[in-house]
Amino acid sequence: MARIKINIKDGTIKRSDKVLGIDLGTTNSLVAFVDSSTGNAICLGEEGDKIVPSVIYVTPENELIVGQAAKSHLIEEADNTVYSVKRLLGRSYTDIAGHSSSFGYHIMPDDSKAMVNINIRGKIYNPIELSAQILKSLKVKAELALGEPISKAVITVPAYFNDSQRQATRDAGKLAGLDVLRIVNEPTAASLAYGIGLDKSQTTTIAVYDLGGGTFDITILSIQNGVFEVLSTNGDTYTGGDDFDRAIITYWCEQHQLNMQQLEADKSVYQEIRLKAEEAKKHLSTNDTFESTIAVFNNVYTLSIDRSSFEKSIQPIVEKTLKCCRMALKDAGLTHEDIQDVVMVGGSTRTPYVIESVKRLFRKERVNNSLNPDEVVALGAAIEADILAGNRKDILLLDVTPLSLGIETLGGMMDTIIPRNSKVPTNAGRQYTTSKDGQLSLRISVYQGEREMVADNRKLGEFILDGIPAMPAGLPKIDIRFMLNADGILSIEAVELRSGIKQTIEIQPQYGLTDKEVETMLLAAMSNAEADMHKRQLAETITEAEQVLYQCRKLLFSNNDLLSEEEKSSTGMAIEELEELCKGDNREAINQSMERLNSVTRPFAERLMDQAIGKALTGKKLDAL
Ligand code: AMP
Repeated sequence: MARIKINIKDGTIKRSDKVLGIDLGTTNSLVAFVDSSTGNAICLGEEGDKIVPSVIYVTPENELIVGQAAKSHLIEEADNTVYSVKRLLGRSYTDIAGHSSSFGYHIMPDDSKAMVNINIRGKIYNPIELSAQILKSLKVKAELALGEPISKAVITVPAYFNDSQRQATRDAGKLAGLDVLRIVNEPTAASLAYGIGLDKSQTTTIAVYDLGGGTFDITILSIQNGVFEVLSTNGDTYTGGDDFDRAIITYWCEQHQLNMQQLEADKSVYQEIRLKAEEAKKHLSTNDTFESTIAVFNNVYTLSIDRSSFEKSIQPIVEKTLKCCRMALKDAGLTHEDIQDVVMVGGSTRTPYVIESVKRLFRKERVNNSLNPDEVVALGAAIEADILAGNRKDILLLDVTPLSLGIETLGGMMDTIIPRNSKVPTNAGRQYTTSKDGQLSLRISVYQGEREMVADNRKLGEFILDGIPAMPAGLPKIDIRFMLNADGILSIEAVELRSGIKQTIEIQPQYGLTDKEVETMLLAAMSNAEADMHKRQLAETITEAEQVLYQCRKLLFSNNDLLSEEEKSSTGMAIEELEELCKGDNREAINQSMERLNSVTRPFAERLMDQAIGKALTGKKLDAL
């Protein structure tokens, strides 16, 4: 019997301290909770009803229905039924272009970087609000099972999710009325479900192989003293059990000389055959053959496939996942011998061919697949939720940030504050100063990426620190601090230390950076390293020359009457020459010209320069922005 606690004095409903663990999956979602009386994590819901299909149906009255009831509309009303919305979270149309035809519903074409929109019955929905509907239905499910209103949760995401996707997940939670205490990586949750890492004295290195419906992730985790560290991740956001279904459809098309494009053109026919293919795949996990019939295009077809033909048709897909595993091992600097355990996650790891292929790759007699592969992530999320609820104090989770974070300094250069692969949560800062006398404000532009010049990296946002008291260039001390929380969300604080003025921002999500883009950015950084170094050196030299020019012009202006005519004219000429060279890219010539200007001005500079100017011209301690 469900019981809800109400405060009889003021009528408020007592909020529970319970924290839910939620696996917001591509195909299915689950909610779990640690039962304090047993200490065990359990998935909530009636038996056979724990898994909520991540499907949303929009009724003619524009009501949103989630789960099994929505899934039943997939065939008849493909246009009005949204599935795999997780693939769209934090993604722009350009990110998914090329894949948009594989969705049965209408994704609106758009060439901006904004998150995609979906048009259903003439109404526009975004992936956050649709994901929020799934989360809301999980929340209600949990409240019914536990008998009280619950408002706190831990939600899992693939380890490969970038900032935008994590932020979008968090936003969906908020929209569903949940206080999201932590966004946890799915592989971390999966290892917790197997109890790996719960014993503080345990030191181990494991691989988590997660093959779901739509995505594949491999993660190498190092666990030491209750600390989980992601050593490397790899994966493919467009490989999963859905591809197995597609491989079966292709097989059947060949068997019956059916045209795949023709099938795809009729959305409800395609959905019908897709569901048949999925049924065949599941059947083949425990049987050797499958046979069924389907009535399409005024014909009845017998659809059959045996296990070896199935395995042959999915071999290239499984091989793709194995290639990612090899890359992850290589990135972590490890071999199969260093991996003590392999954890299997995701419904597609029920396919025996997948299990055998993974065992062979890691050369293991056995892998961890005793728990229900659909439930492990949710169960682990519940354990993490239990830790955050304060029930297990000695465990800490650490992940790494995939790209460096930094700010733009003079000359368009990237100054990294938090390097790539730093463990999060982390916090780092540097001091900067102004480049002009009396500068009252400072623009701080934040970037993510590995390239030397910010133009080649991705801009996350910018803000202005104003109210700096007027001071000579180089005198203000501006401390810029980056704080990256455990979800990978960045807050920045800028303080001018002499005056105490302060500005903080939380970087707003910039939807649209895909895993592929992260990868491309990393590769570009490697292949352009030398060209980038030259560009950086040139930018540094020009910046230095501009500082010298600025100080020399100031020197001439404020000491005009103290200089001889000859000194004025030779300095003027040297200034002009350097100004001209700064427009080009001959670094050597700029350096020589700077040297000439220095030698022309040296005699009177020695007479006139005050300490502050001298400091600004030589060996500056602080970088100017
Ligand atoms: P997930 O995204 O983790 O919920 O995984 C769902 C995927 O697992 C879908 O592609 C399902 O078709 C697949 N799946 C579920 N049960 C089985 C099974 N018995 N054998 C093979 N694949 C399965």
